[in-house]
Amino acid sequence: MSSADGLASELAAIAGRDHVLVDPELTASYETDWTRRFTGRARLVVRPADTAETAAVVRACAAAGAPIVPQGGNTGLVGGSVPRGGEVVLSLVRLRDLEPVDRLAAQVTAGAGVSIVEIQAHAREAGLDYPVDLASRESATVGGTIATNAGGMRVARYGPTRAQVVGIEAVLADGQVVSRLSGLTKDNTGYDLPGLIAGSEGTLAVVTRARLRLVPRVDARATALLGMASTAAAVELAAKLRERLQSVDAMEAFFEEGMALVCAHTGLSRPFAGPQACYFLVECAAREDPAAELAAALDGAAGVVESAFARDPAQRRALWRYREAHTESINAAGVPHKLDVTLPSARLARFESEVRQRLAAAVPEARPVLFGHVGDGNLHVNVLGVGPDDDRADDAVLRLVAELGGSISAEHGVGVAKVPWLHLTRSSADITAMRRIKDALDPQGILNPGVIFPATPIRAGG
Ligand SMILES: Cc1cc2nc3c(=O)[nH]c(=O)nc-3n(C[C@H](O)[C@H](O)[C@H](O)COP(=O)(O)OP(=O)(O)OC[C@H]3O[C@@H](n4cnc5c(N)ncnc54)[C@H](O)[C@@H]3O)c2cc1C
Repeated sequence: MSSADGLASELAAIAGRDHVLVDPELTASYETDWTRRFTGRARLVVRPADTAETAAVVRACAAAGAPIVPQGGNTGLVGGSVPRGGEVVLSLVRLRDLEPVDRLAAQVTAGAGVSIVEIQAHAREAGLDYPVDLASRESATVGGTIATNAGGMRVARYGPTRAQVVGIEAVLADGQVVSRLSGLTKDNTGYDLPGLIAGSEGTLAVVTRARLRLVPRVDARATALLGMASTAAAVELAAKLRERLQSVDAMEAFFEEGMALVCAHTGLSRPFAGPQACYFLVECAAREDPAAELAAALDGAAGVVESAFARDPAQRRALWRYREAHTESINAAGVPHKLDVTLPSARLARFESEVRQRLAAAVPEARPVLFGHVGDGNLHVNVLGVGPDDDRADDAVLRLVAELGGSISAEHGVGVAKVPWLHLTRSSADITAMRRIKDALDPQGILNPGVIFPATPIRAGG
């Protein structure tokens, strides 16, 4: 580190010189998001090692009136994890404590910087599992997934990240530490701060550790990839499978444009002879092999045109690859606008067809690629062929979502990407209440300004 910046020297005294980065070559990877759509220069990057250092960093930034962008694995897709210009990037990746699994409580305490794949492996060694699973699992962190209330593949069965959070330790905007890591599943003592911080996207507090719920490990798995006659048939089948099978673990959907992109990018060959109106991936997981019950439930199911079935891990991974390679294949094709939305299940099929028409009318050059978690009514509308600052596609998609009674953010958060559209699915009373919470917990406005709400000037510390 070498800088005339007094704050940098102060932070170096807290975190060590090697963990305060100011050289543009070293800060670059912290300054651009995964999609490459969002980028900005940081004042510096600081990487504290533990909660005490994190609290001292936040206190120093608050005293200097320096805005902070908390960052975990930087896999967020709404621009909330990278600077907009001049903020301190507070990287939590060195907070890597992972305590032994508490088998009696089926819980574990993990540092904010532990990756999802690490916590899954740790839980599995103890015969349990951490049920949050997403394609970014190798880089996404405990802190980042809590801050975004990440969803992923297993939400229909286990709920999103917030449902796994038993307790949180977090640094508030003035540097105070709140710690609720006792692991008590019943503890109605005042406001649910962990529940509030989950999904707050780094705007209310910096998560340093979390106490997380684990679930029984279910290793016997069966997976089917189905070519469906229509999206409506896939939605109907998802409902039937949910009614009939307790072992349903994931239900995903994607479409022809995504299949073509994935095959071109990865070199995979197509699973079926011809293109399908909708691809539906279902996986069951249980202690006993669920293959027979899945096969029975699919036998004669309406709308199934083609099917591929897999039980052994390599074949299952091969089917999953068509779905999981979507994000990387889209990214390889350009810089996408990523619009992650939920619809009531009854309107999901209508949305899927109307959104293509609306986009074609609003931005003729737009290339939509849709996929998502059909079990939760959640579609990711990716739009290629549109400039980073051109909002016409976002506007067309999000207005349609609001018209159909959906939500403009299913699981990625509002970030900076969706701030102008917050009012579409949150009332002014709702936004006022959220603003008051933000102002109460972060009166200076230093934590992730510009995320969820428009940025306001930083106020003097009290
Ligand atoms: C290939 C791919 C697949 C994905 N699939 C899914 C999916 O299925 N479901 C899903 O929900 N998301 C998905 N995502 C998005 C992303 O992985 C999630 O949003 C994830 O939760 C981000 O975690 P992170 O550690 O990378 O956080 P970051 O990207 O670093 O940060 C995300 C947000 O959280 C804040 N933050 C980070 N750490 C902290 C902390 N310790 N305290 C307070 N605030 C913090 C940041 O300021 C930012 O606002 C995917 C992304 C990719 C690249």
